[in-house]
Amino acid sequence: MESTNFSTWLKDMELNHPLVIAGPCSAETEEQVLNIAHQLKETDATIFRAGIWKPRTRPGNFEGNGVKALPWLVKVKEETGLLTTIEVANAQHAKLALEFDIDIIWIGARTTVNPFAVQEIADALQGTDKIVLVKNPINPDLELWIGAIERLHAVGIKNLGAIHRGFSSFKKTKYRNTPQWQIPIDLKNRFPTLPIICDPSHICGERERILEVSQTALDLKFEGLMIETHFDPDNAWSDAKQQITPSRLKTITEELKVRKGRVVEKDSLKKLTSLRKEINVLDKNLIDLLTERMDVVENIGRVKKDGNVAILQRSRWQDVINKVVDMGEQNGLSSEFIEKIFKSIHQESIEHQNRIVNS
Ligand code: PEP
Ligand code: MN
Repeated sequence: MESTNFSTWLKDMELNHPLVIAGPCSAETEEQVLNIAHQLKETDATIFRAGIWKPRTRPGNFEGNGVKALPWLVKVKEETGLLTTIEVANAQHAKLALEFDIDIIWIGARTTVNPFAVQEIADALQGTDKIVLVKNPINPDLELWIGAIERLHAVGIKNLGAIHRGFSSFKKTKYRNTPQWQIPIDLKNRFPTLPIICDPSHICGERERILEVSQTALDLKFEGLMIETHFDPDNAWSDAKQQITPSRLKTITEELKVRKGRVVEKDSLKKLTSLRKEINVLDKNLIDLLTERMDVVENIGRVKKDGNVAILQRSRWQDVINKVVDMGEQNGLSSEFIEKIFKSIHQESIEHQNRIVNS
């Protein structure tokens, strides 16, 4: 896929900060929409978001105002100059978004999982030069995310971008949707010019850690943020726990550190080069040590084969893990980290011994 014009559009905006898309989870009333939009004029936000068709997990919740809310967004643009963006989930929504001249269209996580729905939307949008952003599918499937982007690209939509909103997981975690940063990083590696916006609101599910997740996104070179914003978050009709006020958004963007993409100062560059050399030597030492360790493991395997002894000696393994976790903690390394590394070393060792015992 060739470079997307959305990245050129972003450059042309000449923002001295990352792109900020903000606005309520749902467009509730005309007054609510306009009130928030006017408050956002005092922040770094340049694009106003609002959901008008809301995909709710369970029925019986507010499902959006639908078409009725589209003129409210037109008013937002007229009164504030902010660009507008909404989520579309089918061809009819897409046609209405075009009809009301919404600037940016996004496809939600629950729609990206469905190639039929994405194709239908792509066909409805064919020929548009609007920006289309594709949220990741709710499940951690990079190919499905790419597939949706490709369907839009295939009908000639050039202004494409992605939104990372985290992935749902059965296991309870501290996130509403776990970020699994490696997945958007892989997307970036596959399509280096495709801008990716991070949506910390749906990743966190609660407002307290939005700053922290936004900072991680910027450190990973995401091009922008989409943050749910409401003048009265606690009384929002959807996603109340994760919304923040426009004034909180202002403090967050002020606190965010935008680090340089590469090192420019000569002095830092020299220091970095020398430290990187040190890392290279240490990495080589690590590999040498792992190889040496594996030689010993294989010798143990030979002894086990001769003595007809089972490979896994549970109490010995428990001993090893306890000792290394202790040593690691004394050196400031977390037990989770040490356990992960040693479990993986142990797995590789079992495979080597297995080959020897069964040869
Ligand atoms: C939203 O942005 O309000 C929304 C419904 O998001 P997602 O598709 O990421 O769940
Ligand atoms: Mn929401």
